[in-house]
Amino acid sequence: MTALLESYAAGRWFRAQADGEPLLDAVTGEEVARLTSEGLDLRQMTDHARRVGGPAIRELTFHQRAVLIKELAKHLSADKDSLYELSYRTGATKRDSLVDIDGGFGTLFSFASKGVRELPNDTVVLDGGLERLGREGTFLGQHIYTSRPGVAVQINAFNFPVWGMLEKLAPAFLAGLPSIVKPASQTAYLTEAVVRRIISSGILPEGSLQLLSGSPRGLLDVLDEQDSVAFTGSAHTAGILRNHPNVQHGGVRLQVEADSLNCSILGPDVRPGDPEFDLFVKGVVSEMTVKAGQKCTAIRRAIVPEAIGDTVVEAIAARLAKITVGNPADENVRMGALASLGQRDEVRKAVESLRNSAEIVFGDPTEVKLIDADAERGAFLSPVLLRAGADAPEPHDVEPFGPVSTVITYRTTAQAIELAARGKGSLVGSLVTHDPAVARQVVLGVAPWHGRILVLDRDDAAESTGHGSPLPMLVHGGPGRAGGGEELGGVRGVLHHMQRTAVQASPDMLTAITGRWTTGSKRVVDEVHPFRKSLAELKIGDAVESAPRQVTLADIDHFAEFTGDTFYAHTDPEAAAANPLFGGIVAHGYLVVSLAAGLFVEPNPGPVLANFGVDGLRFLTPVKAGDTITVTLTVKQITPRTNAEYGEVRWDAVVTNQDGDPVATYDVLTLVAKN
Ligand code: NAP
Repeated sequence: MTALLESYAAGRWFRAQADGEPLLDAVTGEEVARLTSEGLDLRQMTDHARRVGGPAIRELTFHQRAVLIKELAKHLSADKDSLYELSYRTGATKRDSLVDIDGGFGTLFSFASKGVRELPNDTVVLDGGLERLGREGTFLGQHIYTSRPGVAVQINAFNFPVWGMLEKLAPAFLAGLPSIVKPASQTAYLTEAVVRRIISSGILPEGSLQLLSGSPRGLLDVLDEQDSVAFTGSAHTAGILRNHPNVQHGGVRLQVEADSLNCSILGPDVRPGDPEFDLFVKGVVSEMTVKAGQKCTAIRRAIVPEAIGDTVVEAIAARLAKITVGNPADENVRMGALASLGQRDEVRKAVESLRNSAEIVFGDPTEVKLIDADAERGAFLSPVLLRAGADAPEPHDVEPFGPVSTVITYRTTAQAIELAARGKGSLVGSLVTHDPAVARQVVLGVAPWHGRILVLDRDDAAESTGHGSPLPMLVHGGPGRAGGGEELGGVRGVLHHMQRTAVQASPDMLTAITGRWTTGSKRVVDEVHPFRKSLAELKIGDAVESAPRQVTLADIDHFAEFTGDTFYAHTDPEAAAANPLFGGIVAHGYLVVSLAAGLFVEPNPGPVLANFGVDGLRFLTPVKAGDTITVTLTVKQITPRTNAEYGEVRWDAVVTNQDGDPVATYDVLTLVAKN
């Protein structure tokens, strides 16, 4: 008998005491593995995640979590051959597997990098700025994100057994949540192989990742209001999950990525022979055939101007005729098999439904010429192109989850927008046009129905990642029929897992709670200039208050001449007097900032290594010749870099004039040695 897939539960590999259901090779029909979760204790898994995994992850700062994700990505990338071998058995070609396997590892790398660059080296994230709630500034509001002490359950579809898991695992882990992964049965053997590598590497803290190989029955029963479910799959299953009492009444958060009738619109400006015409045709064919069309983002509806409908159909058909189908391991094969014979039957049924209002113009769903494969044993299907008029209902309703697409013709741009919207909410849409006016009209028209829109033309084609590829830094999800979920999106995807809370408190309390100095909080000025302190010695609130300095007309003239910034407000008394904001010569804002640096600096070599920028610079009150400025610099945030001998220090800078009015405010960003 072939291997029985195991679950990784509560710190050990669990093997069910039952035969399990056979999982068949999509290409040969041979048994690959067996699957059952008979006897698996789901409550023990959620307890383990909450008691062991969650606390261990939340001990770590975002940066430390990101470093582990990067380490994991490197570890997994080092040895991929056997995963590719296994992936052939799902029906995937090498190119398909690249999207799933390398795409999954790439997503880990991307989240690791985002975690370090865009999240603090802390366990709390600030959302937005301070809200002043009282006149005196002693009562403020600050939104914060904290990690929930729950479990992130991830129920995945069969089509991306590796990427589908990793794109959910990475943001959940960064957010401080342990994951329980439930892969779709059909391709669970590939997910299991990757989870084995993750667990045996020991890189992630125990309890951060558990695997449920088998039935998810009862899983939602053991979840509560701190837990979440990220589901990818059919709208039908999503409906069952939405109706679960723990989702309806128990506060379990459900995020759904369901089926989607994505479209690609060919702009009314495009003519046969234009580069955009070929881009459109290539895009449709690629989306129909990569992963044998089993992609949630694949183009199911090609919406084209009626006047060139025939030409478009001919061009797509001509390209499809070159697509070779068969054994995905054969180098001459462009399209492999669907994931299972059952899946092939589903697609055939969907094509039959589409034929109620569309006619097949390429391909035969019952017959396909194969390379090195047996049509009786493998789940093969020819690409099928259909054609329909603008009023056909089925193409906007039936999802053929395979190599199938329908060309639909439109007369006006408004009608193209209306057709796109008839998909009732999609993950992604493409618009292929070289006309900026068309781009604006169509994108603004269809955006409310889409999670992502690709505008493709000759200018971005070479670098474009294509219609179908979700990217870790962009939101993946869509409204309505597509489920209403939002996965990925870089740090947005991380924050999605966290709780946002408005905290109302005094400045000192907010400083203590957030770990970031808040305007109005205590400052500490001692005899040691903060530029003499290493990262280990610096404390939030350490400050320097400068001596005063008068800004003279000679300073302003000198700066104007020296830099070449002879803008009239600094050089022409008459014109400056007529300026409604200044009423006379004023100092350059950059002069003020430069003088401030001269006032707060401690010039000798020391732990401060570099200034790498300023944030949020605002000039608030004009500085006139004769005014006297002073600057106060306060340590606002200290961020040690995990893999360097230095860290970042953010300083709050306030320049005031002789009346105490703020002249300029900004954050100074420096790199400071750890010791
Ligand atoms: P599915 O039948 O809905 O299965 C999806 C997942 O849900 C599988 O892991 C499945 O496990 C599990 N499941 C089934 N019944 C369940 C229940 N009662 N409670 C909890 N989990 C349950 O979908 P599929 O046929 O595998 O996937 C194809 C569909 O997914 C297509 O419609 C496609 O559009 C959609 N999809 C969407 C996206 C997206 O990002 N929006 C991505 C990929 C696919 P078992 O396999 O063990 O039954």
